[in-house]
This record gives sequence, C-alpha cells and structure tokens, in this order.
Amino acid sequence: MSASSGIDRHRLKSCLDEVEARIQAACARAGRERDEVTLIAVSKTHPIEAIEALADLGVSDFGESYVQEWQEKARELEDSVRWHFIGGLQSNKARFVAGDVALIHSVDRKSLVNALARRSEAPVNVLLQVNISGERSKGGVEPEELNAFYASVVASPELRVCGVMGMAPYADDPEDARQYFRRLRELFDGLVAYAREHAPQRADEIREISMGMSGDFEVAIEEGATLIRVGSALFGERHYDA
Ligand SMILES: *Cc1c(COP(=O)(O)O)cnc(C)c1O
Repeated sequence: MSASSGIDRHRLKSCLDEVEARIQAACARAGRERDEVTLIAVSKTHPIEAIEALADLGVSDFGESYVQEWQEKARELEDSVRWHFIGGLQSNKARFVAGDVALIHSVDRKSLVNALARRSEAPVNVLLQVNISGERSKGGVEPEELNAFYASVVASPELRVCGVMGMAPYADDPEDARQYFRRLRELFDGLVAYAREHAPQRADEIREISMGMSGDFEVAIEEGATLIRVGSALFGERHYDA
C-alpha cells in the first residue's frame, strides 16, 4: 500500500456523490426505496486513509478480498466500519475471517463451510456464491446445484445463510449484464421457496442479493440487488503493486 499522503478527499467525495446519485436514479426507475440497497465500498488495494475518508462521509460498509490485507486494515480501524469479505476464501484461512466480518459473500463449497463452522462461536453470516456467468475462473456453485448446496450448508447451525452472490461476465455495455442478474434473482426466489419447504424456520434469513460492480450496479439494482459492491467508481483504478 502506498503512503498516506496521496488521499484526495475532494475527489473521493465527488465520486461518492456521483455513485449515490446513480443509485438513487436506479432505485427510482425500479420503484424501489433507497434503503433497500446497501453500498459496499470495495477498498481492496486502497489505503486505510481512503477508507477513513469515505467512512467520514457516511459510508458504513467496506469490502475486501485478501485475508492478510483485510486483517491489517481491520486492526487499524477496529470496529468503526462493517466489513464484507468478498473474495475467494481458502479453507485454511477461513478461521481468520469467521466471526470478524459482517458477511462472507463467497461461500461455494462444503470444505469451506466445514472450516467456517469449526471456528464459530456466534453464527457466521454467509452468502452462497453462484457461478451465473459460466466462466470457470469466477468461482461459485453451479446454478443447478444451489438448492442442494443450501441444504448441506443449513445443516450447520454455525452458519446463517443470508442470501446469494454472483458476478456477471465483464462487458463494455452494462445491459449485457442484465440477463445474468435476472437469473440470479430467479435463483434467489427459487432458493427462498425451497427453504420455505425444507427448512421453514430458516427461510426468513435469506434476504440478500449481492450483485453489481462499478460497471453494472445500476442494472443490478433494477434487477433486485440488495448489496452492490463498488470499487473503482469510488476509489479510482486499482494498482496491484502493493
Ligand atoms: C474487486 C471486486 C469488486 C469491485 O469491482 P469494481 O469493478 O472496481 O467496482 C466487486 N466484487 C468483487 C467480488 C470484487 O472482487
């Protein structure tokens, strides 16, 4: 991470204002209330000072993808922000995040579920990641396997399944993402129906749809996203030279 000096608070504020205006416009188009959508500022590769600046401007939720980087930031910032772990998570690192982040977005296999369950004192809030794009590199359970995977996760009382997460393939035109987000919404609805039948006392816990990034969050909101994960539109480009 670079030195603390280069934080341009005015630029962060204008980016946040613009993202906020776009969120509000998308909610209005979709007939949704603004408070149905939570902005998660994806701060991976960006310095603590930038997180603090956005927190000062009222952003409460931040997303990180790398365990060690998140640990360093969390140590500094303590409980002042709500953390989301959004990246691929190795089972052998699960114990470092279980219980210490508000939500893990990337649960997609039984070995990870078992590792999280082993470490938990309080319930661990998770989303089931679904591979809606069909790209192998993206991670996630196959759409056809979602309900069966849920059944295996919900058998662990240490985990609370709060919803689903997915990523559209990269595209220049955000409209290209719509079909993938619509699919995730349908899978979410199907999962809730499945849970009502097979785990009725747990079905109400399934509420969140995490989808939409800098390039496509407005389409995601129109298609029902409750959590959007926005990095570069807030912080600028990422540099992986840390
Ligand atoms: C990095 C990342 C984002 C943010 O991407 P931007 O295009 O910079 O908004 C969102 N979700 C996940 C899972 C990521 O890894």
